[in-house]
Amino acid sequence: MSTVKDSIVQAVDRLGNDLEQLSRRIHGHPELAYQEVKAAGWLCDFLGVQGFKVERGVAGVDTAFRATMETGEGPTIAILCEYDALPAIGHACGHNVIAASGAGAGAALAAVKDQLPKGRIHVIGTPAEEGGGGKVKLIKGGVFKDVDAAMMVHGWDKWIGHQDLLGIVRVGFEFTGKAAHASADPWQGVNALDAVIQTFNNVSMLRQQVRPDARIHGIVTNGGAAPNIIPEVAACLFYVRAPSLEYMWALHKRMIACAQGAATAAGCTLKVTDMEHPYEPMKKNGALLSAFRANWKALGIVESPEIKDRLGSSDIGNVSQVVPAIQPLVKIAPEGTPIHSRDFETAAVAPLAVEGLKGAAKAMAMTVHDLLANPALVKEAKREFDASK
Ligand SMILES: [Zn+2]
Ligand SMILES: [Zn+2]
Repeated sequence: MSTVKDSIVQAVDRLGNDLEQLSRRIHGHPELAYQEVKAAGWLCDFLGVQGFKVERGVAGVDTAFRATMETGEGPTIAILCEYDALPAIGHACGHNVIAASGAGAGAALAAVKDQLPKGRIHVIGTPAEEGGGGKVKLIKGGVFKDVDAAMMVHGWDKWIGHQDLLGIVRVGFEFTGKAAHASADPWQGVNALDAVIQTFNNVSMLRQQVRPDARIHGIVTNGGAAPNIIPEVAACLFYVRAPSLEYMWALHKRMIACAQGAATAAGCTLKVTDMEHPYEPMKKNGALLSAFRANWKALGIVESPEIKDRLGSSDIGNVSQVVPAIQPLVKIAPEGTPIHSRDFETAAVAPLAVEGLKGAAKAMAMTVHDLLANPALVKEAKREFDASK
């Protein structure tokens, strides 16, 4: 390992307690999409102390931020932090670790600033990953316009360099019928809940016909007011995911047909609400991945093979469609722990998660160093990105 990389590793170890505290504080105050005021504030304060120039609120998003450090003309590399929590189960996606490791990577690079090759480093705070599409807003706001490569990590129960991500579109259905007493005058009513239930039945039939790597899942968001009233209004919300945008939109169309058929069967009217910001599939970048993997190897981290059937979605997918990007998975929980579970929430501040945080911060900082030291690597990443458009 080069002496600069040695210094990066030492800087992360030296900052270990601060980073753990930062991670714990965010975990202890879970904030939902676009309400991450405390988390964004703590991260900005931390990066400011490390010597970054901090912009609080970027692209019109109050809880986004951009911290910048420059050493001269050279590549611009972005490290992304997520810090939003989930409703009801807090930091069960471990975004506290993503945030602290991104800030830690930035801090380690600041610690070796004098020895850094020329370039610009952004640590970008990207809110609302769990629905809300923070990164989509930042892309539209031009935040990635001058970025040459981007990286972030995500917590998992294994170390894995690359995992595919599915595209996702969210679609809501609201059915309107007619209220009536459910016992005295049921024949006067038009049952909107029937349309919701029929939609689920239609989707269940559709499911047999979809490719195995697509995912359709939904919840009832309004099931009526009381059992003795024929539900006048009922609603449901579905997520539709697929490995390509084409297939995702094709399924979206069929989902709407399922709801239309259900509305017809129940005699209701249907309002379709397309949620904002579809998330795009992840575009793989071998050049960035190889550099990152070499650093994991140097740190003694042993990677598990890619998992083909545990597929999620993220707005890092959208970033990967506009600039070369990677999102390696970092082991922060015992093997077999599902994400979005209460066990994962507990694990996200346990000692294993602290190890994960440090391994992620070190490898990201080392990879940024590689990219600044070797602009040909940035060019190679871009060439690969352009070729796979
Ligand atoms: Zn999540
Ligand atoms: Zn997540």
